[in-house]
Amino acid sequence: MRGSTKLFTIFGIDIELHFTWWFVFILLSWSLSATFFPHYFPEQTKEMYWMMGITASLLLFVSVLLHELSHSLVAQAKKIKVKSITLFFFGGVAGITKEEMKPSTELQMALAGPFFSIFLGVVFFLINRLNVNFFITAISFYLYQLNFILAIFNLIPGYPLDGGRAFRAILYWYYKDLKKATRIAVAGGKLFASFLIILGVFALISGTGAGLWFIFLGGFLYFIANASYEQVVLKDVLEDIKVKELMQKKFVSLSPEMEFSKFIRKYVNNDEDVFVVKGKSFTGLLDLERVGRLPGKMQDVVKLKQISMPLHQIKSLKMEDNAYVAFRKFAENGLNVIPVVEKGKLIGLVSRKKIMHRLVWEMKFGKLDGMRSKIKRKVSWKKK
Ligand SMILES: [Zn+2]
Repeated sequence: MRGSTKLFTIFGIDIELHFTWWFVFILLSWSLSATFFPHYFPEQTKEMYWMMGITASLLLFVSVLLHELSHSLVAQAKKIKVKSITLFFFGGVAGITKEEMKPSTELQMALAGPFFSIFLGVVFFLINRLNVNFFITAISFYLYQLNFILAIFNLIPGYPLDGGRAFRAILYWYYKDLKKATRIAVAGGKLFASFLIILGVFALISGTGAGLWFIFLGGFLYFIANASYEQVVLKDVLEDIKVKELMQKKFVSLSPEMEFSKFIRKYVNNDEDVFVVKGKSFTGLLDLERVGRLPGKMQDVVKLKQISMPLHQIKSLKMEDNAYVAFRKFAENGLNVIPVVEKGKLIGLVSRKKIMHRLVWEMKFGKLDGMRSKIKRKVSWKKK
């Protein structure tokens, strides 16, 4: 996630801290030391309350981290890659790259987090009852409640909450239709998010500052729910389009030995941003966006193969791949064009522009509303 700093790596997963985490950490420590602990454990010094507040918020974030880690470890056990866990404003988020998974896998992954929170709640409850000393008893009093709240909140069956993910997995298993399952789970998520926002507004009116927090959280959940559905629709639309259809077969092929200055003079008026560089021993792509500023003298010396990306380093496409595979590879490669390779040979290019253009058309006139065939007929009729 942007704006994050890496703390450490565990089980091959980068643990990151987003800058927004600090706001919550400070706010939480302050409100715990100013209101919560003085209320339940009166007659302590100010320093003591601050120490309790800071320790409790740190341990709450450790609890959140362990919650996310349990999602991630189940994912890893199912051979799904987990890149990172980021702690941020609203808790934690695990960067799990694969979104297509078996319903049973998604269900287990979704439930692992809340179950671990319940487990932590029980542990802190027992610590609280052991009554070791005042400090530990007070901190565990807060933490067992928060871990239980975290579990219950996350089990609400609205996407993108864990309960919503579990709900979607069950719906997906039942209907065998990911779009429909997502639509229903997202509707649940939006309903809950709206409820949070309304609750927050009422709280604010009645003079409770925490209302603002509910409004933010509700808005955030609503936004994610919407984006998740769009992502599934995007996938649905793009999966029906073959790379074959979008592939550009004709392209300018430049010599790897050509000097950059010569290339600039020759192609200054060309529309393309990406060129194929192909010779006997080198095939690659020259993406002008990725070439930094070259001083004049350098331009005379540098050859195209030196500033091109070799084909074997680029994640390429096959003719039979669909546009969604291509869409994902743009992000992985960081290039605006992906080569289509068959039997080790470059046979065409697919550009991001082309996919986006097609996507806009599909969204506008395509199957989104079940209107595809109707509109197609209209268009062809107009042409006549
Ligand atoms: Zn979770």
